[in-house]
Amino acid sequence: MYTDEHGNKWWKGNLHTHTTRSDGRMSPEDCIALYRANGYDFLALTDHWKISKNEEADGMLLLSGCEYDFGRRVQDGIFHIVAVGCERDPGVTREDGPQGCIDKIHAAGGVADLAHPAWSMNTLAQLMPLADVDYTEIFNSVSDLPANCRPYSGAIIDLLAAQGVIWKTAAVDDTHWYQKDACRAYIWVKAEECTREAILAAIRAGDFYSSEGPRMEVTLDREANAVRVRCPKEDHVSSVIYFTDTAWTGHRSDVGEDLTEAAFPLTGRETFVRVELRDREGRSGWGQTVGIAN
Ligand SMILES: [Zn+2]
Ligand SMILES: [Zn+2]
Repeated sequence: MYTDEHGNKWWKGNLHTHTTRSDGRMSPEDCIALYRANGYDFLALTDHWKISKNEEADGMLLLSGCEYDFGRRVQDGIFHIVAVGCERDPGVTREDGPQGCIDKIHAAGGVADLAHPAWSMNTLAQLMPLADVDYTEIFNSVSDLPANCRPYSGAIIDLLAAQGVIWKTAAVDDTHWYQKDACRAYIWVKAEECTREAILAAIRAGDFYSSEGPRMEVTLDREANAVRVRCPKEDHVSSVIYFTDTAWTGHRSDVGEDLTEAAFPLTGRETFVRVELRDREGRSGWGQTVGIAN
């Protein structure tokens, strides 16, 4: 947990984790101890088709979780849906399909994540019909080398946003091997307290962002007609990158050393701005997509 300059509390968590209850390489007990030792405040164990419980384990908030999958061929659509925070087993079956699964997760009081669209090679045509997705994964560690090669889903997230479909985004580990895929990519959630209710409410409200290291505050400043970014000096941010649907603009990034402030002046043409950071170690931070009503 950290407290920002306005006094807001931010809690650190990983929403996508596998253990020996399915195809992960670590027991649930050791996994919880590992994440707790790395400063996490909450964790969701999301084994395939096996729902875990909401509980408190030695100072760590555990959110109930489960990963459901539909489809075997990229051409037909592969959809992995992760349930987080359900009050009861949503009772999802393979016949439900992705939308039925999302609806059942909501009926059970949870939030629904469209997992790793880049790994699944999801297309716009496959994703646009889905309704009520609470968030999608902009980065999942296990989809990076050496196990995979498509960890980053920013391109499809921007394509969706350009069509007016702005989904919230979370970075997750999707931990399986407990090597380079553990304790790497996480979210910071702004909430008064680290309880199931407060964390889920903040996720639904979009009061969270993703990181491997650098922290940020992204705000839409209507008066100055700009998207403003602030980051702590000690996080050593060296690039602030602006992703938009403006095809021609001279301003894509701000680059320097130990940046603390940056801004993207709106041109009047973009319908969204999404901010990413890189620190001097090459670690990323990913802000929520900001919709711009022109
Ligand atoms: Zn998956
Ligand atoms: Zn997974």
